[in-house]
Amino acid sequence: MITLALSKGRIFDETLPLLKAAGIEVLEDPEKSRKLILPTNQPDVRVVLVRATDVPTYVEYGGADVGVTGKDVLLEHGGSGLYQPLDLQIARCHMAVAVPAGFDYPSAVRQGARITVATKYTAIARDFFAEKGVHVDLIKLYGSMELAPLTGLADAIVDLVSTGKTLKANQLVEVEHIMDISSHLVVNQAALKLKTAPIRRIIDTFAAAVSQAETV
Ligand code: ATP
Ligand code: MG
Repeated sequence: MITLALSKGRIFDETLPLLKAAGIEVLEDPEKSRKLILPTNQPDVRVVLVRATDVPTYVEYGGADVGVTGKDVLLEHGGSGLYQPLDLQIARCHMAVAVPAGFDYPSAVRQGARITVATKYTAIARDFFAEKGVHVDLIKLYGSMELAPLTGLADAIVDLVSTGKTLKANQLVEVEHIMDISSHLVVNQAALKLKTAPIRRIIDTFAAAVSQAETV
């Protein structure tokens, strides 16, 4: 049995075509079913639905053999114990620093001011500002980061951006592009040794489907 950990929403939706390329079809719609374990047309492959931030943990400890997870989640997790063979180029967005339209970020940085930054991504934010030599006080949040500067909780946020519409709707402007983000295939290292052939087949067919998608 191969267990694949996915999170509901864009990662699940964008992984379906890759699974299809590997001849795997999920037999239930997670938006309609309450099941957390979904069978596939392959009796020896199943999908488990977990929170996006829990995918690396499931794969690290062998609750799942393979998983699909955002680079953001992977960097926050640390990636220990995970084999990361493939960037799937799905769920693409980027990590950014944003501030209220009235906040003069460049001069705060120039003057060496301490900046209060609210984010769900404390590891990524800590590394980014340390590298830049900017002093920050980080405030860990679990969602709705855009609200923090509007209420005086923070000067800036570090968050994922795709269209920029959410920033705009909250009068925030992007001032730093930290990194591009996409989702990656992660594999449990023991599973790779014990179930080499079926896992290799998934890695190889996914890789072929990704490079196919890149050329169109
Ligand atoms: P949860 O819903 O469990 O709290 P979440 O809200 O972080 O988790 P999603 O919003 O489904 O989960 O995001 C899952 C992954 O998709 C993220 O880790 C990121 O890699 C990617 N992602 C997030 N936002 C976007 C976006 N706007 N565009 C493209 N990809 C995104
Ligand atoms: Mg969500």
